[in-house]
Amino acid sequence: LYVDHPLSEGQSIPLDRDQAHYLFGVMRLPVGAPVLLFNGRDSEYRADVAEAGKKGGVLTCVERTRPLQVPPDLWLLFAPIKKARTDFIVEKAAEMGAARILPVQTEFTNSDRIRQDRLQAHAVEAAEQCGGTYVPEVAELARLDRLLADWDAERQIMFCDEALAGAAAAPGMATGGKWAILIGPEGGFSEAERARLHALPFAHPVSLGPRILRADTAAVAAMTVWQQRFGD
Ligand code: SAM
Repeated sequence: LYVDHPLSEGQSIPLDRDQAHYLFGVMRLPVGAPVLLFNGRDSEYRADVAEAGKKGGVLTCVERTRPLQVPPDLWLLFAPIKKARTDFIVEKAAEMGAARILPVQTEFTNSDRIRQDRLQAHAVEAAEQCGGTYVPEVAELARLDRLLADWDAERQIMFCDEALAGAAAAPGMATGGKWAILIGPEGGFSEAERARLHALPFAHPVSLGPRILRADTAAVAAMTVWQQRFGD
């Protein structure tokens, strides 16, 4: 269970109405039952139910069960698309071990607003779902050109360029260190963006195969390629 609360031995964790409904209404846990807790920042803890009610309850942290599993330093930059597909990208990125998720506005990005809090909640749910102890931060929407202007040159970019369509993937991608994957919007990258990205020494243009993938499919495919090559 995810809780937005510091975790340490002996700590009491108050539960809100939704958490109480899930634990005591849906899961039917009695007082004394164990629950695994994570908050995305500390180790995972086993807690026992101390008080159970309809509108709330209290858990008591008993013992540390797993350390925080910090994923490799991989960011996913993607241009938001339709709501359900943007949700999908965030959910899959969290499942696949992105350390940070950054929605970016490119020239052809349609949306100029996102619900950051909603997307962050999806990242929490996805971490919960796959038993992770880490929750990636979902950043506010930012312009790609501004991000690139302040970019830390040590962070390499796997630039998924649909225009390569099957041409050989970047040979110079070095293992380890800080990484970001960049996925464009439904309309693809503009010629100006493409030229700029091709000129950056830390950006590696990569093809994801001969077919043009939907942006949500491309995000999952790119994370799979990266994890297979560099993940640990
Ligand atoms: N409208 C564009 C076109 O027709 O060329 C397609 C854009 S695609 C739906 C959205 C994003 O997914 C692209 O900007 C790119 O980042 C990624 N993508 C899709 N297929 C790809 C491929 N075969 N290789 C590399 N990136 C790809």
